[in-house]
Amino acid sequence: MMGTTTNIVGAALPALPGVSPESLSAWFVERGEPAFRAKQILDWVWKKKATSFDEMTNLPAPLREKLAVSFRLTALTHAKTQGSEDTTRKFLFRLHDGRYIESVLIPANPALYGEKSDRRTLCVSSQVGCAYGCKFCASGLAGYTRNLDASEIAGQVLAAEQISGERVDNLVFMGMGEPMANFKSLMEAIALITGPETLHLGARHLTISTSGLAPQIRKLADHPQQIRLAISFHGATDEVRDRIMPVNKKYPVAELMDALAHWNSTKKQKLTLEYILIKGVNDELAQAAILARHARSIGAKVNLIPYNTVEGLEWERPAISHCRAFQDVLKKAGVTATLRIEKGHDIDAACGQLRLKQETAEGIV
Ligand code: SAH
Ligand code: SF4
Repeated sequence: MMGTTTNIVGAALPALPGVSPESLSAWFVERGEPAFRAKQILDWVWKKKATSFDEMTNLPAPLREKLAVSFRLTALTHAKTQGSEDTTRKFLFRLHDGRYIESVLIPANPALYGEKSDRRTLCVSSQVGCAYGCKFCASGLAGYTRNLDASEIAGQVLAAEQISGERVDNLVFMGMGEPMANFKSLMEAIALITGPETLHLGARHLTISTSGLAPQIRKLADHPQQIRLAISFHGATDEVRDRIMPVNKKYPVAELMDALAHWNSTKKQKLTLEYILIKGVNDELAQAAILARHARSIGAKVNLIPYNTVEGLEWERPAISHCRAFQDVLKKAGVTATLRIEKGHDIDAACGQLRLKQETAEGIV
């Protein structure tokens, strides 16, 4: 007999971490139950982080049974953790269709919050794989499988808090996938992550990273919440960007910069330009000078990241002295530029790597 929680692909029950408070209230009302039941369930799911319907002792047993045949309590199954408590930890999650995604819990980011900060940042995935095929990225290597739904996105935060016993303070959409290509589920998940009855994390603590989907940048700029935005820039000219990021053919640098100028007209927070430094590919100092002009034109800060080796790719990071020289060009031009020495280099922290290993081992990709 088939289980009630892990049905065949595509036939899974809705998972509660993706159900909005409004839909949940409607579900109870339709069944003649009092509306406060929705509040009780929301508390169990989001605040108490229940792992079974049996824990919900303030609900009558028949109602718990009804819930159990109508919903899954969680969207993800924890498959593996890499790393240890005081370092970066990476969680591998299995989805209902047997696919895998990963989230990375980063203990503190002194570069952003000062040495004494104990803030925890969670890096979440938005898709299984990625269709954008950036040449340096493990997520793009195996191609695109599917979008995550809202429960699988918001559920990563819940699961990370449950496993670690710690509260997540910041969220970055920098895991596997292109969040802006999954706009509808992304926005549903953000509503759940920021909602007062659900996770209640401030929008200012959320950063979406995009490879540069100009129309979606404009759309998000017009959304009322003060969400932060980071751009995977990685090349200051069309010539360099075209070579490593196919998305640039569709939305070239000038169009991207226009969309970012629009972003600035509606948002208060500074934009971040991410720039991976890859030896001999995009690390000429002439690129730094052009990057500085772009950053200044939109008042953005720049985050330099030495390339993380990806199995199956031949590229390497430049010497650290060269990274510093690149950073100096930006600083001398008056741009705030940090050089991020990646945490978690040793635990396959670059997006998509752990999942790629697991799915390769299981013969899925
Ligand atoms: N698709 C979105 C969100 C994923 S974030 C985006 O591209 O912005 C992916 C980020 O992971 C990249 O911008 C880059 O900063 C980082 N990344 C990917 N591959 C990397 C590698 N090999 N080394 C270092 N960082 C990498
Ligand atoms: Fe996709 Fe982002 Fe990786 Fe490019 S960098 S392949 S857009 S996840």
